[in-house]
Amino acid sequence: MEIRGIRRECLDTLRAVGKSQHPNEFVAVLRETDGIIEEFDLAPGTVVTQQSAGFSMSMMPLGIRSAGSAHSHPNGVLSPSNADLQFFGRLGKYHFIFGPPYGKDDWRVFRRDGTPTELEVIE
Ligand SMILES: [Zn+2]
Repeated sequence: MEIRGIRRECLDTLRAVGKSQHPNEFVAVLRETDGIIEEFDLAPGTVVTQQSAGFSMSMMPLGIRSAGSAHSHPNGVLSPSNADLQFFGRLGKYHFIFGPPYGKDDWRVFRRDGTPTELEVIE
């Protein structure tokens, strides 16, 4: 299924989660319905402390059909780390990174290989 966009409500909820977890990081797995990202699952055990950068692959629900991922960078750097790139390759096509202050424009979306891309926000 080609991904056509992300639902505004889903994006707003992800921003709210980022804000509520700050300064900790969150990781979520995105799900699509008919090509639109509408839902996500917070990955269990992946809300980590500021001190433990990154997240544990062993905790990710691999094998589920996912459209991509979303996570936060509480340090505000909206680009993928090396660890992120390894993770992206294993979990879908579109990967969102959120950062403080988690406002409307405080996110980026990347392809599996870490190149910035765009995805339509569907109202
Ligand atoms: Zn990251």
